[in-house]
Amino acid sequence: MNRDSPRTPVAGHRGKTLIANWKLQGTGPHLDQWIQAVQGLEEIHSRPIQVILCPPAVWLERARGRLHEGALALGIQNVSAESAGPFTGEISAAMAYEAGARYALVGHSERRRLFGETDPVVARKAEQSARAGLTPIVCIGETAEERRAGETERVLARQLGALDRLSTEALNALWIAYEPVWSIGTGIPATADNLREVAAWIRSHVAASDATMADRLRLFYGGSVGAGNAAVLGALDGVDGLLVGGASVEADSMVALCRSMAGGMPKSGCGADSSLRG
Ligand code: PEP
Repeated sequence: MNRDSPRTPVAGHRGKTLIANWKLQGTGPHLDQWIQAVQGLEEIHSRPIQVILCPPAVWLERARGRLHEGALALGIQNVSAESAGPFTGEISAAMAYEAGARYALVGHSERRRLFGETDPVVARKAEQSARAGLTPIVCIGETAEERRAGETERVLARQLGALDRLSTEALNALWIAYEPVWSIGTGIPATADNLREVAAWIRSHVAASDATMADRLRLFYGGSVGAGNAAVLGALDGVDGLLVGGASVEADSMVALCRSMAGGMPKSGCGADSSLRG
């Protein structure tokens, strides 16, 4: 990635972030119960942990109305590559912001695979998101066949390369989620060694264009994360948090995930790091 000015530094301890991606699941009452259970957790108030909930977009406003100051932030699962116009069914980044989202998942592998999103479309969505004030969380990752063929780095380089033409504003805002397709929803998580290696490769690839950005880049892992592996995967150096699908939907399971992540982290003493709150 190429850029010409440093991104805004994240002040203080970088902390860890858990991103809950509900996909096409949930109901309004379920949302209410989930928010009540998660935002009251002592673990997310006493550790530098941020939780970002990405529910189906129709519930963003409802979720916003139930949030207390600071404990949780909201994200949208997808935004339009367009800002306005005759695009039936689309939701713009600005609309998502108005509804309460502060983050946007962009280029999730399900969007790429099932809805034909190409690298240039993903880049446009990231640009739209940043322009509207959302933090774009761009998902990248290789398929099982690409991995078997030894093409992981080539695929990641291509997906990252598509972001080269983003504005400085968008590059400053960008987060990256490494989500190997072979791991999403399969029950086969990356191993700690595998993740350490790929995370280091991503940072060094970004560093080749911009060392400052590589150092400050917030990088996430997603793929079959649950309470049993969140502590280990989430605690790895160079991994700023976890993007969780299936295990994030039920409140009990999300509470267990938060506790597992918090278990590997120091207490922050006087509440979670406010610089991490969206
Ligand atoms: C995801 O959808 O981004 C994901 C990581 O799913 P799961 O946790 O279910 O593998």
